[in-house]
Amino acid sequence: MNKEHPELEQSEIIKNIPLACADETTAVEFFEKQRWGNSPCCPHCQHANVYKMEGRDGFRNKRYLWRCRQCGDQFTVRTGTVYEDSRLPLKHWAFAFWRACSSKKGCSAREIQRQCGISYKSALFLMHRVRFAMSEDTTTLPKLGGNVPVEADETYIGGKPRPSALRTGRIAGTGYRKDSNKVPVAAMVERGGNVRTKVIPQVTQGNLRHFLAQNIAVGSIVNTDQSSVYHGVLYPIVKHPIGRHDVVNHSKLEFSRRNADGTISGVNHAESFFSLLKRGITGTFHAVSPQHLHRYCDEFSFRWNTRKLNDGERLALAVKKSIGKHLVYADSTC
Ligand SMILES: [Zn+2]
Repeated sequence: MNKEHPELEQSEIIKNIPLACADETTAVEFFEKQRWGNSPCCPHCQHANVYKMEGRDGFRNKRYLWRCRQCGDQFTVRTGTVYEDSRLPLKHWAFAFWRACSSKKGCSAREIQRQCGISYKSALFLMHRVRFAMSEDTTTLPKLGGNVPVEADETYIGGKPRPSALRTGRIAGTGYRKDSNKVPVAAMVERGGNVRTKVIPQVTQGNLRHFLAQNIAVGSIVNTDQSSVYHGVLYPIVKHPIGRHDVVNHSKLEFSRRNADGTISGVNHAESFFSLLKRGITGTFHAVSPQHLHRYCDEFSFRWNTRKLNDGERLALAVKKSIGKHLVYADSTC
């Protein structure tokens, strides 16, 4: 039993998930168990006086409908979730959730397409909705930092432009970092804690100021590399008497430094997160559109933030987070 999430019954999930990925009825019951446990309730009025509808043959309704005795409405386990309007069987959803939660570097839509026997378009939309389910609204979360140092860093995602594209001027710039069409991703990592990411158009103080202020508690110790972009924007956060801005100078090959007070300065945790993200993009996804990059960042952030859970616990959490979210196809393609 996990101490942080005692409500999750993990060994049962890992044992049952292969069945849920193969059989629709088992998959529906799996999602029902994850959503309601042993006390199903109506998603419309939250009343517990509900029952499973049956067909003429006495078996369960083919659409797996429930009815509420209080408000009279029908519902299914899909109602009010990220998979509500999906025509895909829930066994494919179970498989997609399982692969996304149990693979350290993620699972590509091509794999889901082959293994579930669905179209690439369906598989890509399915995985985007799984990633959307894993995403968090960072405005509602407590700020990082406080007593624990926070590391802030940025990276550039994208391959090198072809020499011919640079030569002919099709892609402007030298191809190196900001002088290219690579997309910057900013991240802050609390040591031993969570990560928050944001895809930004350019690494500028204007783009970082709000993101840093919104996610780091005033008075925290913030570690960055020698980039000058952080000096001004971190001032309101570290000006507090117990706050501090520690800089490690990578250009002088300084990557980790033990200070006189025993604390360690560095951004190696943030680099570790970027390493995982880039290995996933290079090795699993191969190509990611800039407009979809934030979804991949959400997926890797979710796995990083739940790294102390086992695969079953992570899956249960992802399924729980899919409640109350809705993503239409048009929004997933822009
Ligand atoms: Zn009801």
